[in-house]
Amino acid sequence: MHKVAEGVYRIPARAANTYLVEASKGLVLVDTGLPGSEKRILKAIARLGRTPSDLKLVLLTHRHLDHIGSAAALKKQTGAKLASHPFEKPYAAGTLVISVPSAWSFYGRIVRKLTTLEYWSLKLFRIIKFQTAHVDLAADEESVLDGVGLDGSVVWTPGHTKGSVTLFLNQPSVAIVGDLLRARRGQLVEPLLMESIPQTQASVKRVLDLDPEIICPGHGKPLPASRVKIEKRMVKHVVVAKKKEEEEDLEELTSGLF
Ligand SMILES: [Zn+2]
Repeated sequence: MHKVAEGVYRIPARAANTYLVEASKGLVLVDTGLPGSEKRILKAIARLGRTPSDLKLVLLTHRHLDHIGSAAALKKQTGAKLASHPFEKPYAAGTLVISVPSAWSFYGRIVRKLTTLEYWSLKLFRIIKFQTAHVDLAADEESVLDGVGLDGSVVWTPGHTKGSVTLFLNQPSVAIVGDLLRARRGQLVEPLLMESIPQTQASVKRVLDLDPEIICPGHGKPLPASRVKIEKRMVKHVVVAKKKEEEEDLEELTSGLF
C-alpha cells in the first residue's frame, strides 16, 4: 500500500492499481484488480485500522477485467455497494462480453490479438475464476458520493471505453482516472486501447480542466497533472511505435493474467 495524498492510498492489485479513499462515513475503493485481488485489498484496509465493513462503496472506473475482477468477492466480504457507469453495468454482470474496440493506437493492434472476443470469452472467465457482480448504483448520480460523505465528483470520461469514469476528489485535489491515462517512464500517456481516440483526448482535457494536482492511473504510479503528454504521444504512437515499447507494454498488460 502506498500513500498518494492525505486519505488516498494506492493498492497495487493483480494486473492493475486499486485506490482506497477515506471518506467521512467510511472507505471508498476505486477498481478491484483481477479476480483474487480481494485478499490484499482487505489486508490494506486492516492496515489502516479499519474493518471490512468500513468499506461502503466500490467504484468501477470501467468494464475491463483487470478493474472489475474482484468486485463480486469484495461485495460479498464487505457488504459494500458497487457503482459503475450504466454502460459498464452489463459487463460486470457478465451479460455482455468485451468486444474489440474500434480505434487503436498503432501497437494496440498487436494487443488486439490478446483481446479478441475469444480471449475475453467465458472460457477465460472460468480459467481466472471471474465471478459476475451486480452493480447497485449508477456512478453518475450525485447521491453516490454523498452517501459515503466524500467531497468530490464522479466525472464521465469516455474514450478508453464508453462508460469510463474518473473519481475527482476536491481535497486533496486528486483525479483517479482508471485507464484514461497510464503512467509510463514518468509521463502520463494515452491508454493502449481506445474505443475512440478523439473522445479519449476530450476526456483527458476535461480532467485537466478540473486542475487536479495528482493523477492516479490504473497502471503505473500516480504523477502530477503536469506530466500528461497525451497529444505528443498519440501522434508518435500512431505513426512510429517503437518495437521495444510494444514488447514492454505487452508484458505489462499480460503480467499477472495467468
Ligand atoms: Zn481498461
